Amino acid sequence: MSKTAQAGATAACKKDEPVLPEIRCKRCNRLLFKGSVIGVEVKCPKCRCIQCFGCTDGKAAQKIQ
Ligand SMILES: [Zn+2]
Repeated sequence: MSKTAQAGATAACKKDEPVLPEIRCKRCNRLLFKGSVIGVEVKCPKCRCIQCFGCTDGKAAQKIQ
């Protein structure tokens, strides 16, 4: 009598949290925020460089004020 005990390798993946992309300052490389955006303008608190993420450059150049 041969008994084949198959140990089912059940890999319990508990990685439920989504991996958000890191958005860093183009100038000083400081982490500004995490996540994906359609379009956002953010000012770096470190070097005070205002930059756009997700939006096209043509529309980003249009500044009010
Ligand atoms: Zn910066």
